[in-house]
Amino acid sequence: MKAETGLRLGIDLGGSKIELIAFDATGHERLRQRIATPRNDYLATLEVIRGLVAHCERELGASGSVGIGTPGSLSRATGGLRNSNSVCLNGQMIVQDLEAMLGRPVRIANDANCFALSEATDGAAAGAEVVFGVILGTGVGAGIVVRGHALNGPNGIAGEWGHNPLPWPQPEELPGPQCYCGKAGCIETFVSGPGLANDHRLSTGTALTADAIVAGAANGDTACQSTLARYEDRLARALAHVINVLDPDVIVLGGGLSNLDRLYENVPRLWSRYVFSDRVDTRFVRNAHGDSSGVRGAAWLWDEPNT
Ligand SMILES: [Zn+2]
Repeated sequence: MKAETGLRLGIDLGGSKIELIAFDATGHERLRQRIATPRNDYLATLEVIRGLVAHCERELGASGSVGIGTPGSLSRATGGLRNSNSVCLNGQMIVQDLEAMLGRPVRIANDANCFALSEATDGAAAGAEVVFGVILGTGVGAGIVVRGHALNGPNGIAGEWGHNPLPWPQPEELPGPQCYCGKAGCIETFVSGPGLANDHRLSTGTALTADAIVAGAANGDTACQSTLARYEDRLARALAHVINVLDPDVIVLGGGLSNLDRLYENVPRLWSRYVFSDRVDTRFVRNAHGDSSGVRGAAWLWDEPNT
C-alpha cells in the first residue's frame, strides 16, 4: 500500500448521515464514505466517526488532520455544542471527546461555514477575497470566508443572518411568520424552502412544496410565478443588507433553492434598488460542489495537514 503523507479528513456530521472525505496533500480526493447517523445516540455517533477515520487511514496507509462540519456551533460559555438540530449533540463536549478518541486535535465548524469555505477554496468563489456563502434549504444558514479563512467571531455566530428580520418590509410582511427561534419575520421564515411554501399557501390557499411551486411557475402558473417574484425580491433585500455591511466579492448559493436558475439573473437586478451604491459588482453564483461542499469544507478547516 502506497504510504500517504499529509491527508486532510473532512467529516460532515448531519442529522441523517455522517460522511467522510479524504484529500491528499495535493488536494485530490482519495476516499469517501457515508454512514447513516445513529438515531439520538451521542456515544454511537462518536463511534461511527472513529470507525470512519480508522477505516480511511487503514485504506490509505497514513493519518490525517480531522475537521468536522455540523449544524450548530460551540458555546463560548461552556465549550459544548449548541443549536444543533441533532439534539443529542447539544451540550456535549464533542471536540474534547473526539480528540481523546482520535488522539489528535480536532476542528469543528458550522456546516454553513464549511460550505462557504469549500466554495471559497476550490469552488464557485475560488480566489475571491471575501465570500458570503448562503444555504437556502429547509433552513437558512450562511458563512463568511475572508482570504481563505472562515470567520467565527467572539460569539461564534459570524454569518448567522437567517434570524435577522427581513429588511425593508412591506406592510403585508409584518409582523411576519413566527420563527422557531422565538421571533417573528426572520429572513429564514421567508427565504427557506418551507418559507417559500408557506408564503404561497398564505397567498393562494393552496399548499404546495417549494419544488412544486418552482415547477408550476415554469409551466406558466401565474400564482406560482407571483410567489417566486415575491421570493426573489425578499432574497434581494436580505442580501442587499449583507452587501451594505460586508461588501463581499462573491455571494455563493447552496441548498435546494440554489438550483433555481432564474435567481441568478433576477436577484442581482433587484438588489440594486437596495444596495447603498450607484453600481453593484458583487458576483452572485451557484455552488460548484453541490451536496459535497459541507464535507469538503470540513477538510479545509486545517490549512496544513498535521502528519
Ligand atoms: Zn428566527
